[in-house]
Amino acid sequence: MLKVIQSPSKYIQGANALESIGEFSKLLASNYFIIADDFVMKLTAETVSSSLQASGLENHFSRFNGECSRQEIERLTLVLKKNNCNGVIGIGGGKTLDTAKAIAHYQNIPVVVVPTIASTDAPTSALSVIYTEEGEFAEYLIYPKNPDIVLMDSTIIAKAPVRLLIAGMGDALSTYFEAQACFDAKAVSMAGGASTLAAVTLARLCYETLLAEGFKAKLAVEAGVVTEAVERIIEANTYLSGIGFESSGLAAAHAIHNGFTVLEECHHLYHGEKVAFGTLTQLVLQNSSMEEIETVLSFCQQLGLPTTLAEMGVSQDIERKIRAVAEASCAEGETIHNMPFTVTPDNVYAAIIVADGLGRAFLG
Ligand SMILES: [Zn+2]
Repeated sequence: MLKVIQSPSKYIQGANALESIGEFSKLLASNYFIIADDFVMKLTAETVSSSLQASGLENHFSRFNGECSRQEIERLTLVLKKNNCNGVIGIGGGKTLDTAKAIAHYQNIPVVVVPTIASTDAPTSALSVIYTEEGEFAEYLIYPKNPDIVLMDSTIIAKAPVRLLIAGMGDALSTYFEAQACFDAKAVSMAGGASTLAAVTLARLCYETLLAEGFKAKLAVEAGVVTEAVERIIEANTYLSGIGFESSGLAAAHAIHNGFTVLEECHHLYHGEKVAFGTLTQLVLQNSSMEEIETVLSFCQQLGLPTTLAEMGVSQDIERKIRAVAEASCAEGETIHNMPFTVTPDNVYAAIIVADGLGRAFLG
């Protein structure tokens, strides 16, 4: 099988990076269409427009209505065409960025994505999640290439609620374990081939960076300051985890996350919070050493990521609910089947129950 790695063309990160958006974007297009929601627009529009103007770029701002749906993509595309824009900039959270990627893809023009939070590893990827107008999952759009630029302004990201950065660490926590499982299983990644040494190495560096810098970064952001640890965690959550998951692959942790979405009581949790518990469950499923499990448990508990079913919001009727989660985790086409051994709903049910037991024992 061929090995494939893919990544954004350019990744830019640092304090006040947004002030340099014009300098980097001018190489790709001359007239940018910029989308952001109301909150982000107020926060960033002045910086962005003065940077683009200073680089001699035309710019047209348009408000994103909050849902990455077919209708919204079409509505914004009409505005883009009316203004003859030949590049797209999306600023904000996942839905804004996914909408910007979709618009640019259909117009076959460059896209610059500017995440204002570091809560998942989705920004660098060549895919969008499309929802219905009512906010229900509709489909994945897979693109032939990753964003042209991913720009992370750490000053802005550090001002977002700390829980989002911690959720991003939960999402990134699974990357190495899922990448390693896919590597061992010789699974096909989202990039369309086997994993490279490079992707697996970035995934491992992601995990090591979380362990070394995570707690320091949490304390810094809680205090409203940016330190080198915060910079390293932003890179781990976004770039290292992004390439790791896309070019090595997902396995049990994300499938178990998807399983938990069937439970109403877990809807208050962020993606990365459920993925953290999915990671712990994957470790049990693959019978990892106690040393490794304790490392992950203490990391999660230090940061406030859930390690028990009670912390996930599941406290009653556990057997029936976890059976349903286990069934959903093992649905046809789920990434759990990338594990290097056969996994059944019974195996997942058992692993979740034991993961919960370990979490409770560790909490004391
Ligand atoms: Zn994820």
